[in-house]
Amino acid sequence: MTSTTQEQPLLSVRGLGKHFGSARGSLHKSSPTIQAVNGVNLDVRAGETLSLVGESGCGKSTTGRLIARLLDASQGEITFDGRNVTDAQGTELRALRRDIQMIFQDPYSSLNPRLTIGEIIAAPFIIQKVDPTGGVERAVRDLMSRVGLNPDHFGRYPREFSGGQRQRISIARALALKPKLVICDEPVSALDVSVQAQVVNLLMDLQSEFGLSYLFIAHDLAVVKHISARIAVMYLGQIMETAPVDMLYSSPAHPYTRALISAAPIPDPDRARERQRIALTGDVPSAGNPPMGCPFHTRCPSADARCLSEKPKLEVLSEHRQVACHFPGETALEAHRV
Ligand code: SF4
Repeated sequence: MTSTTQEQPLLSVRGLGKHFGSARGSLHKSSPTIQAVNGVNLDVRAGETLSLVGESGCGKSTTGRLIARLLDASQGEITFDGRNVTDAQGTELRALRRDIQMIFQDPYSSLNPRLTIGEIIAAPFIIQKVDPTGGVERAVRDLMSRVGLNPDHFGRYPREFSGGQRQRISIARALALKPKLVICDEPVSALDVSVQAQVVNLLMDLQSEFGLSYLFIAHDLAVVKHISARIAVMYLGQIMETAPVDMLYSSPAHPYTRALISAAPIPDPDRARERQRIALTGDVPSAGNPPMGCPFHTRCPSADARCLSEKPKLEVLSEHRQVACHFPGETALEAHRV
């Protein structure tokens, strides 16, 4: 279940940056700085799914890891449920780690092959010293059952399960401590297409049952369409457009969003044939040497002279939509027609 109510966001990210090759507050000029994440602002409301979408290497996974505090930010602020995530240490950080959980892309490498499924799902209880009602084994069996695994397989090892089942194990582990926010980092990208929908449906059922909020990270717009309330499109470490899912698909305002939507797979072959695909030329520029002006100008079919020198800010275009483009919703050519 998704919601777009206007209450205070559960998660608020402002000016978030991660510069590799530098430490927080002290840039080392001698080594090149990779601006993996550069001034990201986003909100996730309680019970909502915000999807963060962009090509490989755009900084979306790094953003997820910064929010989960698996990485420390170089700049910016993360606030979760009124608490400062960015600077949390000790018991504060421990408490945040109960409330913010992460599911990773690769269900093969994210599960320790030497531990049984029971031990893997029980680990959060042991690490956080939580004693669930009825004991850890009962809680683990309940979780297995809830995610569609046979609780009698408690003593089996990850190698005995398929990719989809392994991702269910990861989901059970992530839900053990009843988190409020789950960061799903490409949770279905490594799975067969036939299994992807099952895992997405499971995540939606669990959201409805437990009131979870998701930050759902994906490179594929087709995957996030059904699970998202809103979508944030990311390019070269920055947010290009944020909008409710229907608005984004029906009238994408940023040229990069338009290109991504035009490339998303459509199940209906007739509609797929009719669609005009916007082919982006050129490679994504290096985050170590980003272009001047608009970060997208080297590939943008609508770029003009202003785009080469002036970086567009992420600005409110309409009530629910923010866009970082000098000519949102139109081509530069159209913008100059009088
Ligand atoms: Fe394209 Fe210019 Fe908009 Fe950037 S600012 S997306 S280059 S039209």
